[in-house]
Amino acid sequence: MAKSVDDLASSEHQGSPDTADLVAREEQVFGENPLEVRESDHYTHEYVGGFVEKWDELIDWKKRYQSEGSFFIDQLKARGVRSVLDVATGTGFHSVRLLEEGFEAVSADGSPQMLAKAFSNGLTYGGHILRVVHADWRWLNRDVHGEYDAIVCLGNSFTHLFSERDRRKALAEFYAMLKHDGVLIIDQRNYDSILDSGFSTKHTYYYAGEDVSAEPDYIDEGLARFKYTFPDRSEFFLNMYPLRKNYMRRLMREVGFQRIDTYGDFQETYHDTEPDFFIHVAEKK
Ligand code: SAM
Repeated sequence: MAKSVDDLASSEHQGSPDTADLVAREEQVFGENPLEVRESDHYTHEYVGGFVEKWDELIDWKKRYQSEGSFFIDQLKARGVRSVLDVATGTGFHSVRLLEEGFEAVSADGSPQMLAKAFSNGLTYGGHILRVVHADWRWLNRDVHGEYDAIVCLGNSFTHLFSERDRRKALAEFYAMLKHDGVLIIDQRNYDSILDSGFSTKHTYYYAGEDVSAEPDYIDEGLARFKYTFPDRSEFFLNMYPLRKNYMRRLMREVGFQRIDTYGDFQETYHDTEPDFFIHVAEKK
């Protein structure tokens, strides 16, 4: 029987055998020197195998649902948004949420394994048939058609782009796929604080899974390598680019977004060092 997100508990959150088969084979590969892996294409080798199956343990849908509240939904509804392109679908948390709230959602991602898991989650949690599209942000217009009122890129995803050229290209593709008065919502970890003062997180938002640790393994100005450890002692890694908040805001402005509001852990006012996450809401007009 279909469940709603509200019914979720991480222990219930199992994929179907078909999906498990699809995603379980491949393993993460970082080669001999993982600290040299600083490439925008590498994400397709990171969201594979057991990590995809474990992702929902890491982010715990039910807790995430509670901690995010209606922040994103309110932002979209306040602007009269109807159609939303979720460009970093992952395992489908926001796509399912958007469909539940009555938005027309299209779910894109560059990882086929993530999309397979998202599709199966859509069916499991609410009986939703996700409209999934396999697309890389840098060539989004090639694979996704139409114009959208809003684009969301959530869960600290944009951090996977390692060159400024790729970041500009992706933002330009997002800009082009929005209607003239469209809005882009991108979130990111507070890397300024990690780079300048070291890592601390309350684990309140996003990475809320019990007994799952997500912590930096290595940090410099060009790489934030995070290690994720699960109760069964399995370990996975993500190599990401540590985006600074004002740099990200500047890029969005330079691509053409006219107004950018940046929230800290969903609050309008905050001290820059405090939030774990920043959320940028960028308007085209
Ligand atoms: N939004 C989901 C969430 O919050 O749980 C997933 C977040 S996960 C950290 C990042 C996602 O971005 C992955 O599913 C990955 O495949 C996708 N991704 C990373 N780089 C991408 C790119 N260049 N094009 C398309 N998808 C990309």
